[in-house]
Amino acid sequence: MSAAGTESKPSPISGLGLFATRDFETGERIAPYMGDLLNAPPEVSSPGQATYLVEVSPGRWLDGSAPTNPARHANHACLPNAELIYDAADGHPWLVARQPLAPGDEITFDYGFSLAESLFHPCKCGAKDCVGRIIAAPLRPALRRHLRFSRRRD
Ligand SMILES: [Zn+2]
Repeated sequence: MSAAGTESKPSPISGLGLFATRDFETGERIAPYMGDLLNAPPEVSSPGQATYLVEVSPGRWLDGSAPTNPARHANHACLPNAELIYDAADGHPWLVARQPLAPGDEITFDYGFSLAESLFHPCKCGAKDCVGRIIAAPLRPALRRHLRFSRRRD
C-alpha cells in the first residue's frame, strides 16, 4: 500500500525509503502514519523493530510496523525534510513537508530517539553534519560531547 504522491524504493540511506512522486508545498501532508495505538511500548525483539514505534503523546505509542502503514519506509535524517505531526482528531500522525519537495526526493523525518536508543542505530543520512547516530535533534549536542570524551586517545 502506498499513499498517493509517494512510492517506496531502495534508499541510499537505509533499506527501502519513501520518495515523493510529485511536488509538495511546505506544510502539506504527505502521508498518514498508521498503526495500532498502545498504552505502553511493546516488547521490542530486534533493534530494527523500534524504528517504527512513535510516541504520539506521553505514554501513548503507535506501532507503525504493519504493511498497511504507507509511511513506514520513511528514513531518519539529521536534516529531515518532513516531520511527524500527531492529529488527535484522526488518531494518528501525518508526515508533513518541512520544505518544498520535488518528485524523486527521499522523504525523511527525525525519529526522535533517546540517547540509549541511538547507540544501536547508526545514521547514514549523508548530511555534512551527520552525527552518525539516529537521535532526536535536541539530544545531538550531548551525544557529540559523549563521543568526543569517549574517543580513545593515542
Ligand atoms: Zn545523519
